[in-house]
Amino acid sequence: MKRVILYVRVSTDEQAKYGYSLGHQELILTKFCEIKGWEVVDIYKEDYSAKNFDRPEYKKLFKYSKAHKREVDYILVSKWDRFSRNQTDALQEIKKFSEMNIEVNAIEQWIDFSIPHNKMMLSIYLTIPEIDNDVRGINTKMGMRRSFKEGRWTGTAPIGFKNGRDHLNKPLLFLGEQQHLVLEAFELFSTGNYAAEELRRIMWKKGLKVSRTRFPELLKNVLYMGKVYVAEYKDEEAQIIQGLHEPIVSEELFNKVQKVFRTKMKGKKKHYDKLNEAMPLRSMLTCPRCSRIMTSSSSKGRNNYYNYYHCRPDCGERMPVEVAHNALYDYFDEIAVKPEIASLYLEVMGSIYKSEEERQRKGD
Ligand SMILES: [Zn+2]
Repeated sequence: MKRVILYVRVSTDEQAKYGYSLGHQELILTKFCEIKGWEVVDIYKEDYSAKNFDRPEYKKLFKYSKAHKREVDYILVSKWDRFSRNQTDALQEIKKFSEMNIEVNAIEQWIDFSIPHNKMMLSIYLTIPEIDNDVRGINTKMGMRRSFKEGRWTGTAPIGFKNGRDHLNKPLLFLGEQQHLVLEAFELFSTGNYAAEELRRIMWKKGLKVSRTRFPELLKNVLYMGKVYVAEYKDEEAQIIQGLHEPIVSEELFNKVQKVFRTKMKGKKKHYDKLNEAMPLRSMLTCPRCSRIMTSSSSKGRNNYYNYYHCRPDCGERMPVEVAHNALYDYFDEIAVKPEIASLYLEVMGSIYKSEEERQRKGD
């Protein structure tokens, strides 16, 4: 008599689809085993959406099977997409089980593994959900794009707005509780009297809880002046569309703020360029004495400028830039890759990167 472990799985967005419920899967799997006269040792039920095989119930199943490999003949699922939506990962897992003498199979898409050619069918079964996933991703993206072009922002409402629906029951942004704080931030920044971070702290105290990196993004977000940004796609260039939602700031105020940004950036860039040229490791070195971040300065000697990295005054650690730079060059020499290996190395990195990227794009 064959001994079987059942594995049923449903992801959050499939809950409502016919034939996908855990109960349905369990029912047909149990019936199947009954007819075959096989013994169901255990059943693992997963309702956790995860990429790949990083799922709690699956992990338990795997652990159990490993510990009791002599007592298990089959891991059964209803369809292959219940096992995985990623072909590469699925084949790997199937192989791991097969090394334990356990066969993974899907009762509605049965593979007779004794016939080598059937492995082709397996690939197809495993690829279909992968393609489905891709198509679904593209559809969502295109759907969002279509809404954006109608002037509807369908993403999460940025602070100051809230998500809602209009009389057509289509998604639309509405003014939120913090609209006045957002308006105030724009107004104050437009005066040019505040650095972004300085203003962010003031607004934080007033209740506008925005992080350091998000704050400049907020002040550049066209949604606040009632527009929608549509990113470039294939041959289409990026565009800014008149939105259907009510603006928080006027176009005039928005543009004034952008102008302040441009003026501030200009000053900053010059300053940075000059510093970077001579002292590129500024803010990257930690002090060997007290582990704080070291900064840099230059002082004028009789004929020359002397550049050095240094710690805070209470520590006093300092070194000429040349000393630090030479130490770094020595270190680079040590870790440098041989030129004959370099190209191979790059290629391997490239292909790993590509396949990882693809995995993340597809998800599960
Ligand atoms: Zn120090």
